[in-house]
Amino acid sequence: HRVATSLTKQHLPFAGLSRDSAAPSPHFDVVVIGGGHAGTEAAAAAARCGSRTLLLTHRVDTIGQMSCNPSFGGIGKGHLMREVDALDGLCSRICDQSGVHYKVLNRRKGPAVWGLRAQIDRKLYKQNMQKEILNTPQLTVREGAVEDLILEEPEPEHAGKCRVSGVVLVDGSIVYAESVILTTGTFLRGMIVIGLEMHPAGRLGDQPSIGLAQTLEKLGFVMGRLKTGTPPRIAKETINFSILNKQTPDNPSIPFSFVNKAVWIKPEDQLPCYLTHTNPKVDKIVLENLHLNSHVKETTRGPRYCPSIESKVLRFPNRLHQVWLEPEGMDSDLIYPQGLSVTLPAELQEKMITCIRGLEKAKMIQPGYGVQYDYLDPRQITPSLETHLVQRLFFAGQINGTTGYEEAAAQGVIAGINASLRVSGKPPFIISRTEGYIGVLIDDLTTLGTCEPYRMFTSRVEFRLSLRPDNADSRLTFRGYKEAGCVSQQRYERASWMKSSLKEGISVLKSIEFSSSKWKKLIPQASISIVKSLPIRALDVLKYEEVDMELLAKAVPESLKKYTQCRELAERLKIEATYESVLNHQLQEIKEVQREEALQLPKDLDYLTLRDVSLSHEVREKLHFSRPQTIGAASRIPGVTPAAIINLLRFVKTTQ
Ligand code: FAD
Repeated sequence: HRVATSLTKQHLPFAGLSRDSAAPSPHFDVVVIGGGHAGTEAAAAAARCGSRTLLLTHRVDTIGQMSCNPSFGGIGKGHLMREVDALDGLCSRICDQSGVHYKVLNRRKGPAVWGLRAQIDRKLYKQNMQKEILNTPQLTVREGAVEDLILEEPEPEHAGKCRVSGVVLVDGSIVYAESVILTTGTFLRGMIVIGLEMHPAGRLGDQPSIGLAQTLEKLGFVMGRLKTGTPPRIAKETINFSILNKQTPDNPSIPFSFVNKAVWIKPEDQLPCYLTHTNPKVDKIVLENLHLNSHVKETTRGPRYCPSIESKVLRFPNRLHQVWLEPEGMDSDLIYPQGLSVTLPAELQEKMITCIRGLEKAKMIQPGYGVQYDYLDPRQITPSLETHLVQRLFFAGQINGTTGYEEAAAQGVIAGINASLRVSGKPPFIISRTEGYIGVLIDDLTTLGTCEPYRMFTSRVEFRLSLRPDNADSRLTFRGYKEAGCVSQQRYERASWMKSSLKEGISVLKSIEFSSSKWKKLIPQASISIVKSLPIRALDVLKYEEVDMELLAKAVPESLKKYTQCRELAERLKIEATYESVLNHQLQEIKEVQREEALQLPKDLDYLTLRDVSLSHEVREKLHFSRPQTIGAASRIPGVTPAAIINLLRFVKTTQ
């Protein structure tokens, strides 16, 4: 017995797929709703797994649209992209065809926490993504707004749960499906805000999804409301770049995708970014006009890590805040002022911009705006992203309370794989916290939920020294190939070659011993600490900052030269050597926390003022409000990092 949750309309076959109204309604294995960053990955992943897939979205020409920042990657986010790529996902490859400024963040820290990042040409990204999606075998793409779901009534063999079996479009037509994935981003009852004006929209220029939000509510899903915002866009030619700090891209550029040796554009042809700052005049405009700014007054939670200029001024008054002026594309006349997300009335935004150094004569082309939208409490989904309430219905992306393209893409690929596996009756594909950032993201969402837009950070990850961007293929590609069938033969073979070369290289490096004379010949100015520990294995020599595979191969060419032929292999051997002993140390820390799970935290501990322990402001706030009784309870508070836990544990033990 199939029923739509709203039984008011006459249902017809979906006109987008059949012109004949008498034809039976089309039937797909997987239907994906939404062509954003989650939807494109979900649809492509389901198709790669062999499912006949339909991607239904409002407009084909907005597939792959970057709603906010013209950049991909960053700290924690770059890791997610590498993992999506390891599962043969799209966003990393598409970025390597569309980037205009590549820069690795966190360079001064170890490669485990490097943040691969690039400014992306919005237009190119969309074009390249649409080309990819429209040419994916097994994938059909159609325009249409989904309004309702078709459900099969609960049956005993389905544990009394109802099951989704199709979707109803706004014109009443229907498409049947074995699994359905919702990836509707900020569109559920989306409301755009500028100053005191509000109007319904999923993002600027796009209709919101109201019917679908009502359907989900009727089905009994718990929903909440979140908000985010975007900065104004500025005419490039009106900015005085000559007085600002210029940031040039890295040379060479590090590609996002494992399958790419280089990106499409040479570093010397890439575009620069520029840095400027806010000043007290900006604070004054914000503070004097709070009464004209309904988005700021709203109690709905906004993104903590990508705050509006209003929240920054209110939380950290009298500070100069960074504003990065980022290119929107190779032939774009627009500049994106990152850090200046704002919802003041448009004329005040323009006034505020012209107070900033370098922007004195700047012309605003499009005002910044805020968006408020419904999200679903992600504790209503399982680690495979299927809902507890309705069988074969999956949610992925911003609908689950996350923010960011990369978080959306990561969920998309997992939902696509699992929706497909569900159809073929295979076990779900789940990534654990010890296997990947994707595992941490999904575990945090499904077990702890979120009441503010969730973004990925390296600090959320317990095992970050082993979950590195360089080794995402060793962690996930083989599982993706064997268990999900979402990885191509070519990628699998490449990952296999890398895995066996690394294994062999490490074993050779362990077998070579460096004596004092050999070492001194290699680096005459070798530090005393190295000399003292001689003789040591070549693997240990490679740990030192001043040593790389090239240098070692000069000393022992007969054994090591072959490992320098491939730049990526040589770099990965260096990283493996760097982390060998640190990983052992991490293991000890994990055991220490596990042993002390039950350690009681003093009831009178004032986390906000506590001096002798290193804790971030965010962690202090969270501990202050949650007041956990034990170390174990503290470690389960969202946002309280493993590093903070070990610091707190040691502090409490020394004061006992
Ligand atoms: P989206 O990219 O929003 O895609 C949703 C898709 O679903 C669209 O293609 C839409 O047409 C389609 N759709 C919706 N409803 C239906 C329906 N009923 N039927 C058919 N198709 C439908 N992220 C940050 O990291 N930092 C920021 O500062 C930031 N600011 C933002 C500001 C604004 C104004 C907006 C709109 C977004 C912002 N984001 C920001 C979020 C970022 O854009 C999203 O995290 C990301 O795009 C989410 O991807 P998604 O696939 O979940 O949804």
